[in-house]
Amino acid sequence: MNVLILGGTTEASALARALAGDGRYSATLSLAGVTQRPLPQPLPVRSGGFGGPEGLARYLTEHAIGALIDATHPFAAQMTRHAAAAARATGTTLLVVRRPPWQAEPGDRWTEVADMAAAAQAIGEAPRRVLLTIGQKDLAPFAAENRHRYVVRAIEAPGAASLPDGAVLIQARGPFAEADERRLLLEHRIEVIVTKNSGGAATQPKLSAARALRLPVIMVARPALPDGVATVPGAAAALAWLARHAATPRGV
Ligand code: NAP
Repeated sequence: MNVLILGGTTEASALARALAGDGRYSATLSLAGVTQRPLPQPLPVRSGGFGGPEGLARYLTEHAIGALIDATHPFAAQMTRHAAAAARATGTTLLVVRRPPWQAEPGDRWTEVADMAAAAQAIGEAPRRVLLTIGQKDLAPFAAENRHRYVVRAIEAPGAASLPDGAVLIQARGPFAEADERRLLLEHRIEVIVTKNSGGAATQPKLSAARALRLPVIMVARPALPDGVATVPGAAAALAWLARHAATPRGV
């Protein structure tokens, strides 16, 4: 069965490794092409957008895709919407892989907000030293609150125009260790962290470090999933779903 994995995550890479040696599937991994030096993958990789839901629908038909697995990041909401629309239009079976969100633990000082604009507001009136670990796309609301001093950590460098004035840029890709996260927070005298609720182990240690240092965290909630999509929490469950799906005739 031909499988298309929409990737860019740890889960997608794990799935790619598992499917690479499995004769039941002919799988391709799709990456957005945003990351300059993507990690090597054991499967054929295609890179770059499809051209909206219609482009993805065309791809699914032309490549006779039997299962579409959306293992994109929980905040890649547009891709997930497009995947749902294209799957619906072509009758392709869709599975969404979504790691569980982080949950606050005793000692955490989280403020949960709905989006980036609310996160920028939640920093407050007084000037603060802020660690932004939200990627490089959504910096505008923070740049507008220019009384704060920002340390921006992202895999890819944002364009110079979108980096807030005076911001320190740290280009790094997880996984991160708690001891290093603590050092980073202390070294830059961070007073508040802003993060998306990405979930997963690779970038969680900043939250443990914040708890240990009693630092507040502004936690941006995930965008909602499209209605009615089948969802599993990780690569192992996706493999089990795929095995069931491959063994079941279409439409049954
Ligand atoms: P997005 O806003 O949901 O998607 C923007 C557009 O990029 C999509 O409409 C699609 O273009 C293209 N695209 C996204 N993922 C793709 C994929 N796997 N294969 C082919 N095209 C893809 O996504 P984003 O937030 O920019 O994230 C881009 C990629 O980075 C995703 O693959 C995601 O898994 C990964 N990532 C995102 C985050 C995050 O915080 N957002 C964090 C870590 C990794 P077309 O409409 O032209 O098809």
